Amino acid sequence: MTNTTLNATANHLHPFSDNQQLKEKGVRVITKADGIYIYDDAGNKIIDGMAGLWCVNIGYGRKELADIARDQMNELAYYNTFFKTSHPAVINLSAKLASIAPAGFNHVFYTGSGSESVDSMIRMVRHYWDSVGKPSKKTLIGRWNGYHGSTIGGVSMGGMKGMHKQGGFPIEGIVHIEQPWFYGLHEEGETAEQFGIRAANWLEEKILEIGADNVAAFVGEPIQGAGGVIIPPSTYWPRIQEICQKYDILLVADEVICGFGRTGEWFGHETFGFQPDIFTTAKGLSSGYLPIGAVFVGDKVVEGILKGGDFNHGFTYAGHPVAAAVALKNVEILDDEGIIKNVHDKTGPYMQAKWREMLSQFKYVDDVRGVGLIQGFTLVKNKATREMFPNEGETGTMLRDIFFSNNLIMRACGDHIVASPPLTITKEEIDLMLATAEKCLQEFE
Ligand code: PLP
Repeated sequence: MTNTTLNATANHLHPFSDNQQLKEKGVRVITKADGIYIYDDAGNKIIDGMAGLWCVNIGYGRKELADIARDQMNELAYYNTFFKTSHPAVINLSAKLASIAPAGFNHVFYTGSGSESVDSMIRMVRHYWDSVGKPSKKTLIGRWNGYHGSTIGGVSMGGMKGMHKQGGFPIEGIVHIEQPWFYGLHEEGETAEQFGIRAANWLEEKILEIGADNVAAFVGEPIQGAGGVIIPPSTYWPRIQEICQKYDILLVADEVICGFGRTGEWFGHETFGFQPDIFTTAKGLSSGYLPIGAVFVGDKVVEGILKGGDFNHGFTYAGHPVAAAVALKNVEILDDEGIIKNVHDKTGPYMQAKWREMLSQFKYVDDVRGVGLIQGFTLVKNKATREMFPNEGETGTMLRDIFFSNNLIMRACGDHIVASPPLTITKEEIDLMLATAEKCLQEFE
């Protein structure tokens, strides 16, 4: 271990980490990055199969973004949009976002992260129902194993039981239903389509239990990302939409991972064929180059909110000029270079086909899945019975560590192994990534 590696934990508590273990074993210090590669301080070139934390959609090292950040910082490093002010960077970004969003989305509300987007959405949803004269509609329904961030609202909205345990979450007024995980939850003989309807109907059951007059919104990721890349059957989201309409409940898509091209469309809800009332974003909005998030607010909700007077909510760094300028350039690059179309037409289908082909040889690998450039598989003890390994997560972590020591970043979400490389990855780079993964899996089995 280098001194830098040990010093890295001397004064820094790392998120989502066993800090005692880090102090003993050190961390890997990442010093630079380019394209799909990151480099550590020992000079290792590492394939970043996760695009950072599912965020570096345009890949590392785009100089245009650095140039824009410098220019904007020289021109106007900071101003806010709170009290009757705005600035060109945020005006231009908002116009661009409205132009790429589906019809009916003409407004965005800015935040500094995905968690802030989710918190803002929760407050906005409740404010909306107050504003339209239905103040009893307060409860939000999420899903077990969903991930919506780490703030008090985000952790509550998410369905990660391990996170709930630390600190007594969820907060009051947020409840959960089971996830649409076909592989783990379907009944004998049930098709994926039948399961999708049954899983969506759990929402109806929950609404009836709570009373529709008390339910404000249903919130879900189009694909559950940190929950293990759980891809719902095609029938799921349309049925969820029907139920929300039937009971006058807002439908919210958390697009923090799926948004900005991950599924091969601008937004995941376009891939899955449903129309939310609100959707939350961050990550791919700036490709992680600077922290920024945005809540896209549909016209119906905007109309309601306009009746409600002041919305007493906002962040000092919301719509930060430098982050907004960088995000605009990022979105322009995604658009002008046809990066998302390439994922849809070329690299996405190529990755999916190669991923399935490569993984079919392994006896502990099952439920190989993917959409666009987000994919997963599950490590199981027995494929025939779908029996999982004991001590959930232990086996996944072991494999993830093998990838890591072979200079490939993939992530273990429990025993689901997931990947989401930069959207700029080429076919040759996909081949290299999968060849490395194959070698690691051979070592593992
Ligand atoms: N929502 C989803 C779907 C996410 O995947 C994440 C982060 O991974 C968040 C919200 C929280 O985003 P952040 O970490 O930027 O707060």
